[in-house]
Amino acid sequence: MNNEFDIIKKYFTFPDIRDDVLISGGDDCASVSVPENKQLLITTDTFISGVHFPLETCPEDIAYKAVMVNLSDLAAMGASPAWITLAITLPEIDEAWLSRFSKTLADLLKRFNITLIGGDTTKGVLSITVQAMGLCDRDKVLRRDQAKPGDKVYVTGHIGDAAIGLLSILNKLDDSNLQPCISRLNRPEARVVFAEGLVLYSTCAIDLSDGLVADLGHILDASNCGAEILLPSIPLSSASSYYFERYNDGITDWATLLTQGDDYELCFTVSKQNESAVNELADKQGLKISCIGEITERIGLSFVNSNGDKENFSQTGFKHF
Ligand code: ADP
Ligand code: MG
Repeated sequence: MNNEFDIIKKYFTFPDIRDDVLISGGDDCASVSVPENKQLLITTDTFISGVHFPLETCPEDIAYKAVMVNLSDLAAMGASPAWITLAITLPEIDEAWLSRFSKTLADLLKRFNITLIGGDTTKGVLSITVQAMGLCDRDKVLRRDQAKPGDKVYVTGHIGDAAIGLLSILNKLDDSNLQPCISRLNRPEARVVFAEGLVLYSTCAIDLSDGLVADLGHILDASNCGAEILLPSIPLSSASSYYFERYNDGITDWATLLTQGDDYELCFTVSKQNESAVNELADKQGLKISCIGEITERIGLSFVNSNGDKENFSQTGFKHF
C-alpha cells in the first residue's frame, strides 16, 4: 500500500452500486441518471481536523458525521440521498485508521442506499469533504423562503443536546448521565425518512447546524417575516435538563442551547390545516416533533419565556471568519 490508487481500491470501493449509476470509480467523472420527474439536489460540507473535530476524534465518528451532516442538508430540502463523492486529505497512510473509517462509511452507504461514485485522495492535514446528491419529486422541494405568517414552527427531536455534549467534553465532566448528549454531538441523526414524508405537508424547512437562533433566522430572512417562539415549548432532553440541575444551579442556559449548533434536527413550518397530518406522520415514524411557536408578519425573531417576558439571544451561530 504505497499510493492513492491502492487506498481507493481497498478502502473507498464498495460492491453495492445503485442501478442509476452509469459510471463510477476509475474514470475522470462519475455519471448518474436523474429521472425526468425528479429534481437533483446537491450539497457539500468540509471537515478539517482541529477545526471541526478535535485531533483525537476516532475515525468512526469522523466518517459518520462527515456523511451525516450532508444527509441532513438533503433532508432539509426533502431530498432522498442517492450518491456521494469523497475528497479526503490524509497526513499518512494509516491502514488501521483507514479501515475503521471505511467500515463506518460502508455501513452508512448501505443503510441509506447511497453509492460512493468518486472522489479525490491527497496528502496533507486531515480533511474530509463529502458531496451528497439526492432526489426529490419535482416542485416538492423544501425551501427557506416559503414561511408564511400564521404558519406554525416545528422542530424534530430535542434542541441543544450537542451543545451540552460539547460542554461536558470541554469541562471534562466525565458524567455518564451526559453520554446521550455526547452521542448527539458525535453521532447526529439526519431526519431523512421524516423529510421524505414532510414534502407532502410543508414547503419550508432548514436543518439546525448553527443553532436555532441563527438557522430559524435564515428562514425568516429568506421568507421576509418574523416568528414568536415560546421557550417552554422548546423540547429539551432529560440528559440536558439533568445537566442544568446538576451543573448550573437549575438554571436553563437558553443561549447555549439555541446558539451553539450541531443539532442536525429539522426546523420547519406548517400551515394550520396540515398540522394534524404532520403530527400523524411523525407519530407513525416514532419521531418526536414539537410546535415551538408561530410565524408572524412582524419582522424579527422573539423568544417568550414562561413569565411571558421577551428574551434575546444575540450570538448567532459559529462563524469561520
Ligand atoms: P483524476 O486524476 O482524474 O482526478 P484521481 O486519480 O483523482 O483521478 O482518482 C481516480 C479515480 O478514483 C476517480 O474515478 C476518482 O473519482 C476516484 N477516487 C479518488 N479518490 C476517491 C475517494 N476518496 N473515494 C472514492 N473515489 C475516489
Ligand atoms: Mg483527482
